[in-house]
Amino acid sequence: MKRRTRLEITVEISQLVIRSSKYQTPVWCTECLLPVQSVTPEEASVLAGVSLSTIDRWVEAGSLHFIEGARVHPLICLAQHSA
Ligand SMILES: [Zn+2]
Repeated sequence: MKRRTRLEITVEISQLVIRSSKYQTPVWCTECLLPVQSVTPEEASVLAGVSLSTIDRWVEAGSLHFIEGARVHPLICLAQHSA
């Protein structure tokens, strides 16, 4: 008689996002027509728990506002999430 052993492994992953103070200054969103808080696409993917390509799709679909400006990194507007 064969005896089966079942092994379950649970992996919990948590991520901590620490934002640099250089992005704390509000930036102008051309969609909201307001100064807004913003995050990088990478930060948005961590906050939303989705991949970076999903963030890109949401930007292309107009679900997220994309802010291009003088900064090195393009930014994602957070205003539409607080409304
Ligand atoms: Zn916006």
